[in-house]
Amino acid sequence: MRVAIFSTKSYDRQFFEAANREYRHELIFFEPRLTAETAILANGYPVVCAFINDRLDATTLQILAAGGTHSIALRSAGFNHIDLKTAKNLGLTVVRVPAYSPYAVAEHAVALILMLNRKLYRAYNRVREDNFSLEGLLGFDLHGSTVGIVGTGKIGACFARIMHGFGCHLLAYDIHPNPECLELGVEYAELPEVLGKADIVSLHCPLIPATERLINRETLQYFQLGAMLINTSRGGLIDTEAAIKALKSGRLGSLGIDVYEQEENLFFEDLSTSIIQDDTFQLLQSFNNVVITAHQGFFTRNALEEIAKTTLQNITDLERGIPCANEIHSEN
Ligand code: NAD
Repeated sequence: MRVAIFSTKSYDRQFFEAANREYRHELIFFEPRLTAETAILANGYPVVCAFINDRLDATTLQILAAGGTHSIALRSAGFNHIDLKTAKNLGLTVVRVPAYSPYAVAEHAVALILMLNRKLYRAYNRVREDNFSLEGLLGFDLHGSTVGIVGTGKIGACFARIMHGFGCHLLAYDIHPNPECLELGVEYAELPEVLGKADIVSLHCPLIPATERLINRETLQYFQLGAMLINTSRGGLIDTEAAIKALKSGRLGSLGIDVYEQEENLFFEDLSTSIIQDDTFQLLQSFNNVVITAHQGFFTRNALEEIAKTTLQNITDLERGIPCANEIHSEN
């Protein structure tokens, strides 16, 4: 099938071309993000492949459908960036990659924890400048500390297993407790209790209306003074302004994020010669107890291979008219 792949970087091309030796679709790579302004590029393509910061709102979807597109292949697990109701009304089939490597994201969450706890970002720069002082680098043992996990699906469960290995006490909040986590010894509780008892809180639930700004002014009050908050899920789970206030007051002792509410204007691009216009992001960057990575949790060789393979298999299923297990059905 002819597939228009948006938001393409060199690594997307590399992994998709390698996987496509088996599938033999006609892949056309477009660098721009998919928006209402760029959707015209997909004119005549039956399938459009999109990534997380593509904007699949009603206008974009209408332009795609009018241009002959019948399917959207998301190369992501999350699908908060597509208007599923409009897609359904337009008769567009939407497929995704529900699982590619939970390890990649869970391990990145752990990397952020270690980075913040042992202040590796400061230590690295100090030693390079021949400053061997330990002042300000004091951390705490992860062994024996309490970790609160919000969302114990594939990534949350993987994260739980790793933190179990560190000897942490694990608490979790999820609307559907995971038997695998229960077996591991994870204790489920209501959100306020989990937030209130944890030394470290890590978010692994999807961004849906029920979880939008789950961490806000009110819920931040539950946190222990000086607790660490990690978000590798979606930026919209945290009210950034409220988190900044909590960092200023000391309620949050540190913050590690791989995702940011307004990331679509920043992440995945080299803006090092531009002036960043997002004041909130700039303020966040200025804290010495905040570590930000630019949505790289998924970015391992293993994950990119799986994403390309599953996306191309999804497209093959669509081409053959086989029911695709990875189709997303709108509830409306
Ligand atoms: P999953 O569907 O396996 O698990 C999500 C869990 O969240 C489920 O157990 C579900 O019951 C729970 N949940 C749903 N609604 C909830 C609510 N209101 N409160 C608490 N828990 C709730 O998904 P996954 O594969 O583990 O991925 C989790 C999220 O990670 C994705 O939705 C995506 O946003 C994010 N993600 C980030 C990256 C990255 O590169 N940083 C990569 C992949 C996925």
